[in-house]
Amino acid sequence: MRRTSLNAQILFSAFAGVLLGLGLAMLEKESPAAQAGLYIAELVGTLFIDMLKMVMIPLVFSSIAVGVANLRMHRQMHRVWKATLGFFAFSMAVAIILGLTAANIFRPGEGLQLEMFQSAMQGVQAGQMPLSGFFAQLLHTLFQNPVAALAQGNVLAVVVFSLLLGIALVIGGERYTNILILLQEFLELMLMLVGWIMRLAPLGIMALLAKLAATQDVALLGTLIEFIVVVVATTLLHGVVVLPLILYLVAGMTPLKFWRGAREALITAFATSSSSATLPVTLRCVEQHLHVKRDIAGFVVPLGATLNMDGTALYEAAAALFIANLAGIELNFVQQMIVFVSAMLAAMGAPGIPSAGMVTMVLVLQSVGLPAEAIAILLPIDRLLDTFRTMVNVEGDMVGSLVVQKLVRGQPDPSGPDSSDV
Ligand code: ASP
Repeated sequence: MRRTSLNAQILFSAFAGVLLGLGLAMLEKESPAAQAGLYIAELVGTLFIDMLKMVMIPLVFSSIAVGVANLRMHRQMHRVWKATLGFFAFSMAVAIILGLTAANIFRPGEGLQLEMFQSAMQGVQAGQMPLSGFFAQLLHTLFQNPVAALAQGNVLAVVVFSLLLGIALVIGGERYTNILILLQEFLELMLMLVGWIMRLAPLGIMALLAKLAATQDVALLGTLIEFIVVVVATTLLHGVVVLPLILYLVAGMTPLKFWRGAREALITAFATSSSSATLPVTLRCVEQHLHVKRDIAGFVVPLGATLNMDGTALYEAAAALFIANLAGIELNFVQQMIVFVSAMLAAMGAPGIPSAGMVTMVLVLQSVGLPAEAIAILLPIDRLLDTFRTMVNVEGDMVGSLVVQKLVRGQPDPSGPDSSDV
């Protein structure tokens, strides 16, 4: 009962936030009311994200270690691994193909001139990011002193360390039962904190969306409207049709049931533009509302939050073709295949933070010889597009955990979204 009302509050506050932001945008920019409104929105929104980040790393650590340790039997572990990575690669590949197809059909950017954006491009120093260097850097971030990784919030390194710790707990067996129980209880406490933070979610989400809506540059959105529409529509196609279809075909769950259990996380992802900040909410939705077993959820969801980014992959591919159109360069089939591979790597390498996909975009552009500085054109519209792609990134993680559960355990979802928990 209480959860339903929290969900309703979140949905309502998301709409209210956008309206409030549009209202703020209509006020005189320098007026005290507009300034105060923006200040409050920024303060409240940032506080909400800070709170989510506060529990994110301890949660990732404990949920993966406990998740893996609970997948006691080695054979099962093996199957979870394969199903998870297989699903990640498959869903991202489908997303990229969608992005490439849409960009080839609608050809956004044709007719616009790159020179129009020359001054913006001059302000940007795009770093060198050759494919090999990028790959080496990605591998390099995997293994780190765990204390440093925990302190710096390096999610990927925390994931790797907790995976290893979980495996060691499995192999060590009975002898380390105490540590496992300790971690389990710690995880439960973290989830309790997430429950508390979620009570504040309506306020935080309203503030974040108000600020976002109030600070968009309308003139620029107009110039790039075709590209924005193509990207948003294709991203939504993936999120509303493709992923739910996979979920239905594999796990038999209807889209409505999924939406009921997943919406807290989807709206939080939309408002925060960060898969990592949303992770505590995602885990909570997957375990408590969608009934994925803790061992599977604890493994698939944190790993997915950093590696599995359908929305980002789709965006990177579509944006590369957009820039090519702007520059008047026709990418042939082989070059588009290179875009396919580099978009997949760039999405996997992007951390789950706002605009991360924008940074790794450099890799995709350089892989086919496009001017990396052209990301300057995309920067002003990135916050807007990031909302949709992060939402689909997080959706992919949740669908992934349900699909993996079905593939590994062959378990149907017992009762659909739960209404008994907060
Ligand atoms: N903001 C996205 C995320 O956190 C990453 C991106 O910029 O594409 O999932």
